[in-house]
Amino acid sequence: MEYLSVTNAQQRVLECVHKLDTESVELARSIGRVLADDVRANRDLPPYDVSAMDGYAVRSADLAKIPAVLEIIEDIKAGDLPRSTVRAGQCARIMTGAPVPQGADAVIRVEDTQASTENRVQINAAVKPGNDIRLQGEGMRNGDVVLTAGTEITPGVTGVLATVKRARVQVYRRPRVAILSTGNELEGMDDPVDPDKIPNSNSYALMAQVQALGIEPDLLGIARDDPAELKDYLQRGLGFDVLLVSGGTSVGVHDYVRPVIESLGVQMKFWRVAMKPGHPVAFGITAHTRFFGLPGNPVSSMVCFEQFVAPALRRMMGHQRLFRRTITARLTHSIKHQPGRSEFVRVTLAKEASGYAATSTGAQGSGMLLSMARADGLLVVPAGSTGLAADSIVTVQLLDGTVFQDDTGFRE
Ligand code: AMP
Ligand code: MG
Repeated sequence: MEYLSVTNAQQRVLECVHKLDTESVELARSIGRVLADDVRANRDLPPYDVSAMDGYAVRSADLAKIPAVLEIIEDIKAGDLPRSTVRAGQCARIMTGAPVPQGADAVIRVEDTQASTENRVQINAAVKPGNDIRLQGEGMRNGDVVLTAGTEITPGVTGVLATVKRARVQVYRRPRVAILSTGNELEGMDDPVDPDKIPNSNSYALMAQVQALGIEPDLLGIARDDPAELKDYLQRGLGFDVLLVSGGTSVGVHDYVRPVIESLGVQMKFWRVAMKPGHPVAFGITAHTRFFGLPGNPVSSMVCFEQFVAPALRRMMGHQRLFRRTITARLTHSIKHQPGRSEFVRVTLAKEASGYAATSTGAQGSGMLLSMARADGLLVVPAGSTGLAADSIVTVQLLDGTVFQDDTGFRE
């Protein structure tokens, strides 16, 4: 049986995953989406030289001797156009963002002045030409590409898109994702509590992981460990871009997902990954669907989602950065490890004088969902490690946040 490293399995997944087609969405509904086209500026900004301060537009040559008293010839507010030219000995009162009048070559901020007689102001500081003037086009120049295809729409990007008057934007479509849980032991959310059953947490935890990436998945429900029933559910799931199946991927006699999914024409790419938790994780494809078989154990399911599914979903949505951000941290205790599989240890992080301290959330059984609920991140113990000493510097994959990175950030 072939065991792939996490990195090799991720590569196999990403080789089979591509950007989806594009659609036009309202700017107001586009946060987190990815631009499908380059966006150009449609004007110079600022449209002319403007003041960066509330103060006075002056001729810098008039300030060779300080203090200097200048005549105020007009008052220019933001939105006004100047009417007169500033000549020797003159200035104009000007507000931030208002156009600098002809003749003036600098702005003095109001703090460097004091009132003189009516219509006159005393200037207490000399300035160089260009002082506190924002030049025409310094923010953006008409015709320049200001955002490139592949840019994620963040609040800052939204501001730029609004600036260039894009009420609608062309973005990559989000994948349609189906989630199916399997197992005779499972109790649905609406079922009465039965002490002999296991509540179906995976459908909901996976749903939340998908939602955290900006996608609203469909829950297909719970399929029993019965080949005919499983076939119906899986067939439905294969109508989606991505099908996530929890449970039944192991090698138990009632683990029917593999034979049934293969009978439906899914070409399997792998079944086993050398990782802990989570090694019975599977990936396969049809012409239109990417299938992930996730382990039933709740922690394994979530960890496998982060390593394999999340990067795939992000690639489909057009993102260039596919992987969760990693940081380095100081391990506050030792960790035992047998070489063989890469291990993802749930940790909390605390800020300390120089960086972060990582501490295990406690018992790490793959069914212990509380270890995941408490975790800030996953500490990656490389497959070849023979254990980590207290105070060693470790890599931790952060579990939340919207900032992603170009590569996994860890070595196995
Ligand atoms: P399996 O991978 O199907 O062998 O499942 C392994 C174990 O994971 C099962 O014995 C259950 O305890 C648990 N499990 C499977 N599916 C779920 C689910 N949807 N929600 C919570 N726990 C599950
Ligand atoms: Mg099962």
